[in-house]
Amino acid sequence: MKLVEMDKDQLQSAFNVDAKKGLSHQEAKKRLKQYGHNELAEGEKQSALLLFFNQFKDFMVLILLAATLVSGLLGEYIDAIAIIMIVLVNGFLGFFQERKAEKSLSALKEMAAPQMMVQRDGLWTKIQAKDCVPGDIVKFASGDRIGADIRITKAHSLEAEESALTGESLPVVKSSDVMKKESAGIGDQVNMAFMGTLVTRGSGEGVVVATGMKTAMGQIADLLQNAHSQQTPLQIRLEQLGKILIVAALFLTLLVVGIGVLQGNNLYTMVLAGVSLAVAAIPEGLPAIVTVALSLGVQRMIRKNAIVRKLPAVETLGCASVICSDKTGTMTENKMMVTRLWVGGRDWTVSGKGFEPAGEFECMQGPSDDTEVRQLLTYGILCNNAELKLKKKNYYIEGDPTEGAMLVAAMKKGIDRQLQFENYQLLKEFPFESERKLMSVMVKDANGRQFIVTKGAPDVLLGRCSSVQMNGRNQRMDEKMVHGIMASTERMAEQALRTIAVAFKSVPANTAILDEGDAECDLVFLGLQGMMDPPRAEVAQAVQECRDAGIKTVMITGDHMVTAKAIGEKLGIYHQGDRVVSGAELDKMSEDELSDIVDETSVFARVSPEHKLKIVSAFQGRGHIVAMTGDGVNDAPAIKAADIGIAMGISGTDVAKETSALILLDDNFATIKAAIKEGRNIYENIRKFIRYLLASNVGEILVMLFAMIIGLPLPLLPIQILWVNLVTDGLPAMALGLDKPEENVMKRPPRHPKEGVFARGLGWKVISRGFLIGSATLLAFMTVYKSNPDNLQYAQTVAFATLVLAQLIHVFDCRSEKSIFSRNPFGNMYLVWAVVSSIVLMVIALYYPPLQQVFHTVSIAPRDWLLILGMASIPTFLLAGTFYVSKSK
Ligand code: ATP
Repeated sequence: MKLVEMDKDQLQSAFNVDAKKGLSHQEAKKRLKQYGHNELAEGEKQSALLLFFNQFKDFMVLILLAATLVSGLLGEYIDAIAIIMIVLVNGFLGFFQERKAEKSLSALKEMAAPQMMVQRDGLWTKIQAKDCVPGDIVKFASGDRIGADIRITKAHSLEAEESALTGESLPVVKSSDVMKKESAGIGDQVNMAFMGTLVTRGSGEGVVVATGMKTAMGQIADLLQNAHSQQTPLQIRLEQLGKILIVAALFLTLLVVGIGVLQGNNLYTMVLAGVSLAVAAIPEGLPAIVTVALSLGVQRMIRKNAIVRKLPAVETLGCASVICSDKTGTMTENKMMVTRLWVGGRDWTVSGKGFEPAGEFECMQGPSDDTEVRQLLTYGILCNNAELKLKKKNYYIEGDPTEGAMLVAAMKKGIDRQLQFENYQLLKEFPFESERKLMSVMVKDANGRQFIVTKGAPDVLLGRCSSVQMNGRNQRMDEKMVHGIMASTERMAEQALRTIAVAFKSVPANTAILDEGDAECDLVFLGLQGMMDPPRAEVAQAVQECRDAGIKTVMITGDHMVTAKAIGEKLGIYHQGDRVVSGAELDKMSEDELSDIVDETSVFARVSPEHKLKIVSAFQGRGHIVAMTGDGVNDAPAIKAADIGIAMGISGTDVAKETSALILLDDNFATIKAAIKEGRNIYENIRKFIRYLLASNVGEILVMLFAMIIGLPLPLLPIQILWVNLVTDGLPAMALGLDKPEENVMKRPPRHPKEGVFARGLGWKVISRGFLIGSATLLAFMTVYKSNPDNLQYAQTVAFATLVLAQLIHVFDCRSEKSIFSRNPFGNMYLVWAVVSSIVLMVIALYYPPLQQVFHTVSIAPRDWLLILGMASIPTFLLAGTFYVSKSK
């Protein structure tokens, strides 16, 4: 028998599973072994060996190796071996850096991997989709990406978009009905949900019938293109810059070699020196260090609960000038508690703590009969899917917290959920949708009477009511009544309460209720529930920090305008004179009109997800870089359109997560701020080591060039240049990538996205520092060489030590945009250790006889260290001094 033709019992026996309990953990484990993980086979990865050899395919490195071969043939064995060793160590370093970057990126992918809701041993649990097995009973709802092939057994207004399989982008209505005969097309199998397709509406349940490569998706897996890794704009720009630098370095190297030969230097030595210089001067390690800095930054973000899904977002974060954030759950705790009721013309207060089902009801107009209160609460849980759970003496809600609050309120009155299930039979459900702002059910009570219960936003629901129940009797809904109810709603909203209204109507058994339009009309208004959702403690401060950093926070919510404004005010988002714009107003505004007022608007209330797109483009039209949060399917277009799309990790649907660039693991607004701060810091750190590496390279080239021009012998030997490149440049540059942010990182306006790498004086710093490092090294060399022209090796050793020390002092200057004195030198201990180890290694190379032979060094007399230190300090301290002089003027 075909899957689509099976009824529930046949499915149960075919897959040997109890539909009420699901598989046992043991059985699931067994099946996982039998069927393998629920994964599609991946494309080939670059092997480690290939990655290693790739490190040597650089043109200059190949030339260097060829030159080394020549020097080996000429009998310069020590030089040849030393150079090969250095090239190898460099290669290994590059290899490990790239491996690390690759590994941390794939770890990220894993964290953002899809999950599924399955029933195991009678309990619903969220598992990684890859651990799901055939026979699993699964649940899914709007926004989920289906993780396996599923035969649907329950469906409420279920629709799925199957374009990944069928190419058809219009959603298909799904049902649990048994099909009479199997249809050939995937699109026609309406009681099947396929792996990789999206639930666009409603919810459902089903049995997993195929996993991994056995799914319909698995069969076409080869056709799926593999996601290729993305480069950030900075990486692309650096790649272009790298090419320019190669040409410049080659040109200068040729100049050095040419002048050197003309000045009478040995051709072979000059060629080797030239090639070494080119290898040292071309920052071929830069892209790898940038990748490492990015991926380490990304890991720091994970520790702060932000997962970066798209690497370019790391940079864009630093440019963000507007954050549009959802309110519920992101700025508030999403721990709702009903504190006020309005029913039958009376107001009631409800006491209690959190989700604990204990509290008192008190009528504000004096002692009163509570029959209608009981009715309001009962209907509130009929149209409700939340469940209250207890874990380690803590109550928590499974499902929608708004519904949870209504459930707890009913329980406080002793209204038992279980009893309701026995008394009322659920016939139909029209799930809550942010667009409608309503949810309805059709139920049958113990006496066989059918009726509809609808709950939702009061202003919306009022429009669907033709009467109101007062003291047990229905009255016509006239204008006065509408105003009265709206005034009660606003009174609750002014106290920052979220309001939900409840209404109902009886439906004779023969009435056709086909869709929500039939259900949600001509209703009897019953009452209101007002619930408190406390703002998260850390949000107000985060909003303030963003403000200091030139970033505007905008609240976007489906809640009532007055509620939204009250909370916005508490959090410092709304300020006197700001505009609060409603969804209805947005509908009426043209793009241009919205663009005119968007800068003064800080709260958008009663909006639907589709409004978000309009808001994003309005801000973008004003030149802003926009971060936008979202969780549902309908938020996806806005998340995609935003410069930084942010999805909620807990409440977010798969669709929202997949389109996002950043996922907040804790759904918390403060995490966005932390990510922006980290984004700014990563960019600054990259600038820091670019500055360091390039200034060092400029210094290295200039010392050689100047020496050749003046007619001096070579101040540095090839092997010494390579050493500087490897030991002095590499380690400290890495450490700069790990630097902490400067204090002012969140005190200045966002960076312009088009800003070049060398903006804000970086280019000048590279050239001026490089010039001074080169000149100071040459000066040290000349001083020693002039006083003792017979001992060239000694002068070269002094030049080598000066160059190394000048760079190692300069590296501390690179930590700040201002000056070396503005930061504690011990603030970055990685850097301190990198510098200490570079110095120790240099001292060994200078004084340890076997290495003296390799590096052609000689022991430096103590008195010359004063000269070296003095010269090495000039480049950094001279300019730091001029900075202070110019500041104090
Ligand atoms: P956010 O602030 O994150 O945008 P929100 O929770 O404020 O989200 P929605 O979830 O769209 O926005 O809710 C809008 C309104 O719909 C609420 O103010 C409430 O009146 C009503 N509402 C919310 N949840 C439900 C529900 N489960 N059933 C019926 N009505 C609901």
